[in-house]
Amino acid sequence: MFLYPPPGVAPAGAESPERVTTSVQRIVRSTAVTRQVKKWHEGACQICGVTVILPGGAYSEGTHIQALGSPHNGPDTTDNVLYLCPTCHVMFDGGAIVLTDNLIIMRNGTESKTLRTHPQHTINLACVAKHRDRWRQ
Ligand SMILES: [Zn+2]
Repeated sequence: MFLYPPPGVAPAGAESPERVTTSVQRIVRSTAVTRQVKKWHEGACQICGVTVILPGGAYSEGTHIQALGSPHNGPDTTDNVLYLCPTCHVMFDGGAIVLTDNLIIMRNGTESKTLRTHPQHTINLACVAKHRDRWRQ
């Protein structure tokens, strides 16, 4: 019989992790902006097309093209938000995915397909350029 962890080996970590109280100043993002973008794309990631379905419905993440925080200071407007699945969100925020001015998806420097769009969802190309410049090697 296989036992994991082996007998006599205690797991690393804490049974009751320590708690601390902190004070954080954060940007107040408009939920109306991301809600509108999600509505336009009906659950499908604008980059890979995947719809993540959870028991409560489709799950996605509103992603700012030009980040809101300093020093990027992007606008909290629908033309600066993409509707992405969690994987594409991480890749976009980490610079593994950028967009060209023609909204071609570049994955690690290689062109792939065009960003999925919606007629009412305009994309701010100045924000696209700032995101791309941020990750230019
Ligand atoms: Zn995706």
